[in-house]
Amino acid sequence: MVNYKSIKLSPGLYFVSTPIGSARDITLRALDILANADVLAAEDTRTLKKLLEIHGIQLKNRSLISYHDHNGGKARPKLLAHLEQGKSIAYASEAGTPLIADPGFSLLTEVLSAENNVISAPGPCALIAALTVAGLPTDRFSFEGFLPNNKSQKELKLRDLRSYRGTLIFYESAKRLSDTLLKSVEVLGEDRQGVVCREITKKFEDTQRGSLKKLSEFYCDKNIKGEIVLLIAGATDPDVDLNKVEQHLKDALKSMSVKDSAEAVALALNVSRRDVYQLALKIKSRSE
Ligand code: SAM
Repeated sequence: MVNYKSIKLSPGLYFVSTPIGSARDITLRALDILANADVLAAEDTRTLKKLLEIHGIQLKNRSLISYHDHNGGKARPKLLAHLEQGKSIAYASEAGTPLIADPGFSLLTEVLSAENNVISAPGPCALIAALTVAGLPTDRFSFEGFLPNNKSQKELKLRDLRSYRGTLIFYESAKRLSDTLLKSVEVLGEDRQGVVCREITKKFEDTQRGSLKKLSEFYCDKNIKGEIVLLIAGATDPDVDLNKVEQHLKDALKSMSVKDSAEAVALALNVSRRDVYQLALKIKSRSE
């Protein structure tokens, strides 16, 4: 059984999101587009071929054009020529959503300036997947991509973000995580809450939550592997609504220890863990 339909696509460039781990995380519409586009383009042609194979989609005599950061200048005119001829092109990056810390932006701007159609086939994206499970506020967030490699530039970037009130989201490598956490403790303070989401949708998926200090200590001597999204709580509002904190704590204390309640409430409301812990101790002793 195949999961795609035979359809006629309108001419244009289709940005197709592909799985970030589990191959079945692909939409039926994405499969329809990959199966029916006149031309396929990919950041990594081998990865796309493998995905087509898994889902029983045949390339047949269609062209599969490589398009990545290092050949964009040469590949764009080829792709634009296909669009000029009224063809449909499906483009997929190596994983997740094209253009999100992935190639495609210059292609998009050229396609738009040539007044061709651009269509999205939305789907997996590591930052959104991480945000939905982190437990940090989701109403305001800033995706900051990869932090600079250079130590002083990394510090500058973090300083720049210190007073941002929403959740900060970074893509990070396993090799650099420990250093980034250490720097974050230094610049943002040890009490800021953070979440490390590793290998989302894959076999060794793992999420660690806690203060930056706790996370930094946890990862300092671990030789971890895999892909990572690091989330950091935004700057705390100085006018914390204590009634709200207290109400959340009372609810949490019904089923959790003082320590766990403080941890969970601090994370959910983005307030200092130390202050919440003190308040939790008071509530507990009042109730005994
Ligand atoms: N376009 C992709 C997207 O939509 O998420 C991101 C591409 S970027 C080159 C790759 C980075 O995304 C990885 O280094 C990692 O930080 C993050 N990432 C991708 N897949 C992930 C996964 N399964 N678990 C955790 N992080 C992931």
